[in-house]
Amino acid sequence: MRRCSACDGDVRDEFRFCPHCGHAQRTKIVEYFRGHPDVGDGGLRVSVYLTRPQNTRLSVWRGEEAQAAISLDPRETRRLGRFLMTGASPRRRGAVEKVSALAGRVGLLRQP
Ligand SMILES: [Zn+2]
Repeated sequence: MRRCSACDGDVRDEFRFCPHCGHAQRTKIVEYFRGHPDVGDGGLRVSVYLTRPQNTRLSVWRGEEAQAAISLDPRETRRLGRFLMTGASPRRRGAVEKVSALAGRVGLLRQP
């Protein structure tokens, strides 16, 4: 159970809209990634939820069906991001670090 940010009414965790005022309870960013064609098929859907409880949902898709999914808390999400950047060029890592620092300053992301 959580509180609606618009009317402060009680909202069950699974509700996407407040039952009292209709305010959207979740805001998320979604991106799709195709699987490597030489290694496998399917795709990965990544949903970053910006409202509480903040989490990143990773789901593996084959065709129109999700095969598996997991949600990471913000700390594990940042750790995954750093891990994925280990293969990036130093120039690319520098650009991502600058964007992350800027996002942290405006409150979009918390730095570890
Ligand atoms: Zn409400």
